[in-house]
Amino acid sequence: TAPANSVPPGLAERVRAGERAALARALTLVESLPLEGASSGARVPPDLAPLLAGRVRAHVVGVTGAPGAGKSTLVGRLAVHLRERGRRVGVLAVDPSSPFSGGALLGDRVRMAVPVADPGLFVRSVASRGHQGGLALAVFRMVRVMAAAGMETVLVETVGAGQNDVGVLGVADTVVLVLNPATGDEIQALKAGIVEIGDVMVVNKADLPGADETYRAVTSALDIASSPDPGWRVPVVRVSALQDRGLDLLIEALERHRIHLSSGPAGLRRRRIQAEWELRAALLAAVERRLVAPLTASGRWAHLVDRLASGELSADEAAEAVLGSLNP
Ligand code: GDP
Repeated sequence: TAPANSVPPGLAERVRAGERAALARALTLVESLPLEGASSGARVPPDLAPLLAGRVRAHVVGVTGAPGAGKSTLVGRLAVHLRERGRRVGVLAVDPSSPFSGGALLGDRVRMAVPVADPGLFVRSVASRGHQGGLALAVFRMVRVMAAAGMETVLVETVGAGQNDVGVLGVADTVVLVLNPATGDEIQALKAGIVEIGDVMVVNKADLPGADETYRAVTSALDIASSPDPGWRVPVVRVSALQDRGLDLLIEALERHRIHLSSGPAGLRRRRIQAEWELRAALLAAVERRLVAPLTASGRWAHLVDRLASGELSADEAAEAVLGSLNP
């Protein structure tokens, strides 16, 4: 029998034709690539390569924010509303706490709210552990596969902390930062910290007290912040994902940002930033595969680690020694 990671013939064509089983299989394959590459020296199988190249046709929306901010609930509502507008929607949950990942509550709610066999909605979680630095690369590839399968919007849910997540957000055309109603000191911290990350700010849980104050504080913080994209005024949207309110305004803001990117120099700039993140992610995975894996196999890695641990080498010297093995 064929090994689990072999590519069935015609898979890329079947993905492009929108076959769900093919999409599921291709996602599994590309998710495991960075991992397997590290141990076996494998590269992207030629049959899959066409899915991973070229311009991404989907609008890729990263949804980030602190745990508990309501990202999963919001992504579920967004998916439903976008489906109602006839858009084909892919969801990638990179958030380990996402109910999408556990197949729990919200996944069920989404499935209930749209036809069970809706071919226009595909939800997938991404294991955020065990990627050895390849998580961002796996996400880039999974987004590409979803877009190749005809998903017009791909929602990427990720927790807003840590390097990994920054790398993951590098895939997005539009980043949505999800905040909550805050008070006093929290608002000060908010104003200091948030401003650079989002293209669209959501004050979720607007059904709770403090939403209007938070909205005003975020808006005024944005007014005085220097924007990385002067042509774009970051909108702040009050939403209650729980009560299904404000989603129309949010979708309108996402659409405006998509158009903004499609029509000016901002889009080109964004694509270069995305390309840079993707290149970096691919390079890190290649370093694992081409440098670390062979050194591990030969025992030299353990030897270097021992010398570093005993103080014989500095980390910088060890790193240079590893790089030196490129040019023996
Ligand atoms: P995540 O960790 O950011 O993905 O947050 P979840 O989507 O899991 O939501 C965390 C909690 O906040 C859950 O109990 C949700 O029901 C609740 N929640 C989400 N959105 C809203 C909202 O708009 N209003 C209120 N009151 N609660 C919400």
